[in-house]
Amino acid sequence: MSLTDDMPGLKERDVERLGPCAVCGKSLIGGGRLPLFYVVRISRAGFDLPAINRRVALGALLQSSALAQAMGPDEDIAKIINGPTEVAVHEECTEVGHLLRLMPEGE
Ligand SMILES: [Zn+2]
Repeated sequence: MSLTDDMPGLKERDVERLGPCAVCGKSLIGGGRLPLFYVVRISRAGFDLPAINRRVALGALLQSSALAQAMGPDEDIAKIINGPTEVAVHEECTEVGHLLRLMPEGE
């Protein structure tokens, strides 16, 4: 039994479905220096400012942010704008700046 026997696996078709590295564009298989890559599920979210304002106002009214959270409507304060989408990135191509550019527009 090897160390990786219990880990979730990806078939070749699963790796091909991910496409090339989303940062450098090279093939995942053999395209990176290290035999490691990330599968990244990424979404872009935006705060719902009117919901945040209602939340802050309730906190001020009750004079307690914790009480406002417990007694308020517990509404969403942010919404997913794009995504989620799943991409793959070579181990050596992962930097936060690169990951932020991966989100496709209008999805
Ligand atoms: Zn890469």
